[in-house]
Amino acid sequence: MIDRNAPIFVTGHRGMVGSALVRRLKSAGFGNILTATRSELDLREQAAVDSWFDSHRPAHVIHAAGTVGGIQANATRPAEFLYDNLMIHATVLHAAYRTGVEKLLYLGSSCIYPRDCPQPIKEEYLLTGPLEKTNEAYAVAKIAGLKSCEAYRKQYGCRFISAMPTNLYGPNDNFDLTSSHVVPALIRKFHEARINGAAEVAVWGSGRPRREFLHVDDLADACLFLMDNYEGEETINVGSGEDLTIAALAELIRDAVCPGVRIAFDASMPDGTPRKLLDVSKLRALGWRHQTALAEGLASAYEWYCSRVAVAAAS
Ligand code: GDP
Repeated sequence: MIDRNAPIFVTGHRGMVGSALVRRLKSAGFGNILTATRSELDLREQAAVDSWFDSHRPAHVIHAAGTVGGIQANATRPAEFLYDNLMIHATVLHAAYRTGVEKLLYLGSSCIYPRDCPQPIKEEYLLTGPLEKTNEAYAVAKIAGLKSCEAYRKQYGCRFISAMPTNLYGPNDNFDLTSSHVVPALIRKFHEARINGAAEVAVWGSGRPRREFLHVDDLADACLFLMDNYEGEETINVGSGEDLTIAALAELIRDAVCPGVRIAFDASMPDGTPRKLLDVSKLRALGWRHQTALAEGLASAYEWYCSRVAVAAAS
């Protein structure tokens, strides 16, 4: 187990993943969790990152920061996704190596696997085929980060490990309809339909793509598990091992939020990759599996959204 009293730096702690990590580390008894807001530390600036690492000396790092977004944001802001993510990964990994960080966990993403690889996706399928076009820029940057972990291990012996999460959802998700992922977008759309008494809700694409979803608290738990139990070079998939169509997801959210409203598929919007279900047998063999069933996780995400909407309306 990694030392609960050693300083551990969680990058991106205001995001959905970073905030879940901080909650999980606190509940596990970590007493020295380091964080830095974007205004305190621009992770794209090597000099700033170097000086931050020099003064704070983290023993461990979980690297959850990144410029992220849904299918539309990825497709329309490729330069931003490529530049920000390339820089953020390069600076943090290099500073961690230079200051002798004991262990670092890098987070990839299931969208960096080839578009048309066999399902479920095994870790070794990485870089075996062309990427999905709608998120190619993001994927290239994330793959560079993942390969950097391997390179720092090989050349310098750094204990850098990596995990590959599937599509995530949960508290502190991004609910902006142009840049969000599908779960927060649909929670918001069905909620607004309920408030406004709308007859139908638009769901992008054909409804036929299949996606796997994991509650972010489960991901945070898996990250701690890997920090404590995994030392290998090969990345480890983190998912639920189950997927469903976007149409079925929309029905689940509709039934929980606004039963009876009609679902209208908007064929002018992209479907993206047809399927990306992770093979989670490696992680299961190590002894970890997810806890939150999708319906239960979606209900709690909707509760969280309602509490935030209520707070925003009252302020
Ligand atoms: P992806 O997994 O990288 O494709 O990212 P998303 O979570 O953005 O999209 C997943 C799937 O959900 C795609 O097929 C989208 O077209 C579909 N989808 C349906 N409605 C929505 C929506 O309102 N917002 C988003 N982001 N995706 C939607």
